[in-house]
Amino acid sequence: MREPFDPELPVSRLPGVGPRREAGLSRLGVRTLRDALFLFPRRYEDRRRLTPLEELQEGRPALFRGRVGELSSQRSQGKHRVRGLLSDPTGCLRLLWFHRPGVAAQLPPGTEAVFWGRPARFGDALVCVNPEFWTGSVPQGEEWGRIVPVYPGTEGLPPRWLRSFLLSQVERCAPQIPEELPESLIRRRGLLPLKEAVRQLHAPDDEVRWREARRRLAYQELLELQVPFALRRRAAASLPPPVLRCEKGVSERFWADLPFDPTPGQREALRALEADLGGRHPMNRLLQGDVGSGKTLVALGALHLVLRGGAQGAYLAPTEILARQVWEVARRLPALAPFPVDLVLGGRSLREREEQAEALERPEPRLVVGTHALLEDSVRFSRLGLAVIDEQHRFGVAQRAALAAKGRSPHLLVMTATPIPRTLSLALFGDLSSLALRDLPPGRSPVVTRVLGQKDLRRVLAFLRQELARGGRAFWVCPLVEESEGTGLPGAMQRREALARALPESCPEVVHGRLDGAAKAAALERFRSGESRLLVGTTVLEVGIDVPEATVMVVEHGERFGLSQLHQLRGRVGRGSSRGVCLLLSGTEEEDSLRRLRILERIGDGFRIAEADCALRGGGEMGGVRQHGDSGFKVADLRVDAALLEQARQDAQDWVDAEPALDSCPLFRKRLEERYPDVFRLLAGA
Ligand code: ADP
Ligand code: MG
Repeated sequence: MREPFDPELPVSRLPGVGPRREAGLSRLGVRTLRDALFLFPRRYEDRRRLTPLEELQEGRPALFRGRVGELSSQRSQGKHRVRGLLSDPTGCLRLLWFHRPGVAAQLPPGTEAVFWGRPARFGDALVCVNPEFWTGSVPQGEEWGRIVPVYPGTEGLPPRWLRSFLLSQVERCAPQIPEELPESLIRRRGLLPLKEAVRQLHAPDDEVRWREARRRLAYQELLELQVPFALRRRAAASLPPPVLRCEKGVSERFWADLPFDPTPGQREALRALEADLGGRHPMNRLLQGDVGSGKTLVALGALHLVLRGGAQGAYLAPTEILARQVWEVARRLPALAPFPVDLVLGGRSLREREEQAEALERPEPRLVVGTHALLEDSVRFSRLGLAVIDEQHRFGVAQRAALAAKGRSPHLLVMTATPIPRTLSLALFGDLSSLALRDLPPGRSPVVTRVLGQKDLRRVLAFLRQELARGGRAFWVCPLVEESEGTGLPGAMQRREALARALPESCPEVVHGRLDGAAKAAALERFRSGESRLLVGTTVLEVGIDVPEATVMVVEHGERFGLSQLHQLRGRVGRGSSRGVCLLLSGTEEEDSLRRLRILERIGDGFRIAEADCALRGGGEMGGVRQHGDSGFKVADLRVDAALLEQARQDAQDWVDAEPALDSCPLFRKRLEERYPDVFRLLAGA
């Protein structure tokens, strides 16, 4: 008998999932059966057709079959190698495995096997290095003979296990997935049923079906965001934002209290915000400005207006480090001195939470700076006037919408250092008008950027030694927290140790995502104070950190990062009076990837970098689904889904107009209600 489908079933209850697998799955965000069915492949490998050996081409991955001739195993200098010769009636191919001593036993001479790999040319011969293979025991249609999904990898989950686990769950459960969209929209837009779309995304029959499946799921994702926007617009029409009692000229007084003059852009931006904040409609503004252009102060200036006007303000930052830093700045601003400024981070005790909740319930002006913890349902504002979202690209789609739904239609200010195309801003925020800071504070010069190789490590150290001797401070970014077996990628923890030996005078500290908040804050504090002069870390260093004395940014394996991300990283240095230097160490010699990195040597403007990056990456191939750039969508890709977005927007508006309680599709309503409780509370109040 088939068990009834329970989407909330914890994965630990599924066959084959013990504690170790459960932990691995949870690192991929998979906790329930539904999560598993919606964990989509990163890419696909077309292993449908067998290629005769004579048709193999250099550099092109292929599936091929043959008989193993001689096979020899050797060890030299601690390296294990297995060499073999494969033949079929059309030709032959050399095989080579490194570090796989077991292969020799699995493929005794004379064995017939199927292989998947990418042949390379060594001299005259084609050689395939470390191919995957299957002998008789793995039948066609499982690992080969089909389009094979490739899932995101993580520790504790062998790729083949993950694939077989997910595909078996899909096969078992997909037919029972209930429809989550109203029938009328499915018909109107000609969409695949959800169960079919999920199945095709994991195990596509062909590219055409895959495209339809992707379209269906992207549409749903876009609609799930557009409906709350439409609901919010509806609520805002009957519940205007709090009226602010603003005296004229408050923003000028805000600047007057600072030790420096605002840039013309800052002054103009705050004036525009002041005008919006006095209005009867909720403001929806995007403040774009390159790294270091001084967005934080503009936001604090706007919050100051709101507090003065008698309402509350929220500042949402993506990391604890950044939240603390903004909180410190806010607490010290003379203009904010009359108002309480709180810091809200995760992991607070129940008591703290209760106290905070109580404070926010009092209808008095108050500023709260915090991380995602601000989005918890327990954080409720009695009079939220303005919500600021800093570094918007670090937040998921749902989180951004959740903050906007707090309080009675608050004004919203979203900040970004990377430009957002119109389609993206529509998708992420509904209607949003943008403001830009085009100038940097005076005295800044562009960060001198050089692309070097990992092999230049020694030169880099010599340069750092010099900089440190001159009193400079440096950041050092690694792609991973911990060195992981076999990838050859440096981990921040090991790198700190190595640097402590090479540059003991720098007293290096390390920060990464696995440290708790207090440890991170302490390390940063020692760096800020100058006790330590080298801060090693992962991309947690990317956003917001502001230490004016820092002059050098080293990034290892620069090719592993997005250009805009690298631009953000280098924006951490050269903020004070001395020039900044950014050294990007490339882990590869590939021309394409070097060319990409070198864009940063030439271009200093974040907006143009984002354009160049986008042009290089292109879009639209059958590339699986991944977190697309800045959007935070799982399936939708706004570079190709602009038309779909427009449809979702229209459909959301029509649906909400006709049926504000979304009665015709209880499942859709339930999912939204869980995700955005505040939107529905707003509606109930309206
Ligand atoms: P971002 O736009 O990247 O968020 P920040 O707001 O962190 O930039 O500002 C970067 C640094 O510039 C901070 O140290 C801030 O105090 C300083 N700053 C901001 N505005 C000015 C100004 N008008 N003149 C001088 N320094 C400024
Ligand atoms: Mg900032």
